[in-house]
Amino acid sequence: NAPTDRLAPPSSARALQALDSAHFLHPFTDHQALAAKGARVITHAEGIWIWDADGHRILDGMSGLWCVNAGYGRRELADAAHRQMLTLPFYNTFFQTTTEPPVRLAARLSELAPPVDGRRFTHVFFTSSGSEANDTNVRLVRRYWDLMGQPQRKVIISRWNAYHGSTVAAASLGGMRAMHEQGDLPIPGIEHIQQPYYWDLRESGETPEAFGVRAARWLEEKILEIGPEKVAAFIAEPVQGAGGVIIPPATYWPEIQRIVDRYGILLISDEVICAFGRLGHWFAYEKFGIKPDLVTFAKAVTSGYVPLGGVLVNERVAQVLCAGGEFTHGYTYSGHPVACAVALANLELMEREALPQRVREDTAPYLAQRFAALADHPLVGVAETCGMVAGLILVRDKATLGRFPEEWAVGMTCRAHCFDTGVVMRAVGDRMIIAPPLIMTRADIDTMIDLIWRALDATLADLQRQGRW
Ligand code: PMP
Repeated sequence: NAPTDRLAPPSSARALQALDSAHFLHPFTDHQALAAKGARVITHAEGIWIWDADGHRILDGMSGLWCVNAGYGRRELADAAHRQMLTLPFYNTFFQTTTEPPVRLAARLSELAPPVDGRRFTHVFFTSSGSEANDTNVRLVRRYWDLMGQPQRKVIISRWNAYHGSTVAAASLGGMRAMHEQGDLPIPGIEHIQQPYYWDLRESGETPEAFGVRAARWLEEKILEIGPEKVAAFIAEPVQGAGGVIIPPATYWPEIQRIVDRYGILLISDEVICAFGRLGHWFAYEKFGIKPDLVTFAKAVTSGYVPLGGVLVNERVAQVLCAGGEFTHGYTYSGHPVACAVALANLELMEREALPQRVREDTAPYLAQRFAALADHPLVGVAETCGMVAGLILVRDKATLGRFPEEWAVGMTCRAHCFDTGVVMRAVGDRMIIAPPLIMTRADIDTMIDLIWRALDATLADLQRQGRW
């Protein structure tokens, strides 16, 4: 936690916190609780490190919010934005006009995304976020089935504890009950099945493989309950991110694919977190052998430097859509030239540094090995990874994976200790999760694991002090 020479004076940080409390509504935040302690002011960042206004250097184990895959301080991304802003900061693409960056980016993404069953992802619809991209998906799949002469196919099936965004449609697709409770969600036409979370939903003696098949069959049961002729699509994250890095057993996705094929329903792979090298491939569907019709992306397409999202559309859908007249949908910033220019520079950088390959062949296997060893800590029940995402379960009893009472909020305590120790981890209930920048070296991974271990020690010491251990 070395202080730096770029410290904001403490008085100005305090002033900023006061202004923050007075005016800034934060996402997913209890504002009274935040005001009581003041938001941590992050001032600058470089590589895998962020600095706060009190001079703490913190290893960013979450890549911002699962997005800064190329790390901080990449000058060429700033240069790409600067150049494009001076050349053409904005022009719309609504009225028979186009601009160069989104055209080139759509073509590039179409090239990067491997075909499924010989069918290419020929087209891209751009948005500014993952939420808007999933809203687009809701409209797009219903439009597709209308054009196919099956307008009764409206229902989209998703999963509990999935996260697909915060707009009304995206929050409805998501399976976060706390979100549904605010504002009468989900909207009609969206159904949920249980998630493939082995550690919570397995039956006694059930193997992960058997559980994976059983969990996938919940989709088939739901399709039959609704009536296959009414089901438009199934949407899922290859690995659930915000839900707590829920990694499905290897048998899950092949069985899901068999089911969507059998009933002819569209498959949407929400890769807002999982794409762009996160799991060791440009797209996660490659890793799992999934054959999606639509792929949602956002976040790391620009390494988070500017907002951009979108939907990759397979030719099965694109041909119908493009031949079907006007699709009455679009955003002012669909294909924003600056965002697309930054994305092009980011993809070039990732390709030059072979980040997906480096993750696949070197850093992810190393992380898997180092992270698994965290299970030796007295507080850790399970420690698992998939590419460069990882999650561990804090437990009271290692043998039975018995959990702590929810009201003890042990995850939140651990998260606070992580910050104090100098590493960002996120807490989802009793799961502690990471998604570090893909530029990490093995030495960086060692540093991160050491910091996590120390934060776990501090959490354990707290529990002991409170007589809870
Ligand atoms: N889908 C997934 C899988 C996500 O993880 C997120 C964001 N965490 C979203 C969609 C929503 O993206 P955004 O926050 O850019 O709207």
